[in-house]
Amino acid sequence: MDLQRKLAILADAAKYDASCASSGTDKRDSRGGSGMGSSGGMGICHSYTPDGRCISLLKILLTNHCQYDCLYCVNRSSSNVPRAKFSVEEVVTLTLDFYRRNCIEGLFLSSGIVKSPDFTMELLVEVARVLRETHDFRGYIHLKTIPDASEDLLRRAGLYADRLSINVELPTDTGLKQLAPEKDTAAIHRSMGRLRLHIDDAKAQRKAAAAVPIRVLPGASTRPARPPRFAPAGQSTQMIVGADGSDDRSILQSSATLYQRFRMRRVYYSAFSPIPDASRALPLQAPPLVREHRLYQADWLMRFYGFDHQEIVDDGTGLLRLDVDPKLAWALAHPERFPVDLNHAPRELLLRVPGLGVGSVDKLVAARRARRLRAEDLSQLKVPTRKVLPFVVVDGHRPSGAMPNGAAIATSPSHPALAQATAAGAPLRTVASAPVPMQMGLF
Ligand code: SF4
Repeated sequence: MDLQRKLAILADAAKYDASCASSGTDKRDSRGGSGMGSSGGMGICHSYTPDGRCISLLKILLTNHCQYDCLYCVNRSSSNVPRAKFSVEEVVTLTLDFYRRNCIEGLFLSSGIVKSPDFTMELLVEVARVLRETHDFRGYIHLKTIPDASEDLLRRAGLYADRLSINVELPTDTGLKQLAPEKDTAAIHRSMGRLRLHIDDAKAQRKAAAAVPIRVLPGASTRPARPPRFAPAGQSTQMIVGADGSDDRSILQSSATLYQRFRMRRVYYSAFSPIPDASRALPLQAPPLVREHRLYQADWLMRFYGFDHQEIVDDGTGLLRLDVDPKLAWALAHPERFPVDLNHAPRELLLRVPGLGVGSVDKLVAARRARRLRAEDLSQLKVPTRKVLPFVVVDGHRPSGAMPNGAAIATSPSHPALAQATAAGAPLRTVASAPVPMQMGLF
């Protein structure tokens, strides 16, 4: 099989992994002779670095042969898809070629499991080793880690990769047993725990080495070489949404545990997409994509806004509302917490105001140290007043209407009170001309 065909198969097989987030777009290309470029090129996806830069990665599987039979996976052993396998040299060559042409800034490499977890992991580590040691490759490497692989292989993977990830796959142990019986939640957690220890150890050693003073006296030894980094971009995981019956409450609970126990850099949510020849145990339809989006927003609330996972999801259904974002939904369900006084409220309470992001809150807190805030100041501080004013008190503004009854809204997504809440107190808008509820961004 030629390299182009392998790339087509193994890039397509990797597209279900959401661990390097990229957004979808229309398919376009210039094959008809007009225009330039293509949005459907094989294997290149976008990911975000901790400082917010977007980078392109070659995203492929080493092989889509797999001895496991996870029901939700297109590469499972019983699946009837074309199979292919790269050699280590082929992945290295592809990565370097794409890199030299300035098409990518790094590699995202995953794999089906062949022969044994250790055999597969050894190949993944070898790709990273050859890239780093033989070719002095400085680009980004994200390696998918096989949970049952030996500790030594995990350790070696972390020396070459920027980020490691182990997919938890399903939010509950019951779901995993039902849909991926060969996988074991305990083994997944054990490997995540090992990675965490290696990451912490490497950080502590580098910190200790950096603290050793440089000696400049004649004959004195210089500062010793710093110990190697271990997966400096941390570890992440992915959860499939909608393949089993788990509600959003269980999904967020599982994420909260992963963040707390293993200090995950990210949990990615991937809406289940029906696969060819799917098992009857799987739903016939994909969950709405907006559910995946709401989970990401809720995840953001847990990580940056001080929300506990238990308070984000509606008590009755266990699901996030799809019509409004989780922060607005929480505000509407807790009218007793509003309006919030922008001149006196603590930072934690400001973070709960719909429309106020972390950056806006920091600007408000800094500004009110100098003098009392007035309504006009909000626009100057680039605060989205239309979203914020219905929920706050500030000099020169007080919401005119009472906050709507959250319980009533929670049971009726189209409740008119939602529109009233958006309009209540907005100085330049009347309730009668209030718009239909809109998505409110968190960021
Ligand atoms: S082990 Fe991974 S590649 Fe293999 S069937 Fe399960 S999810 Fe798919």
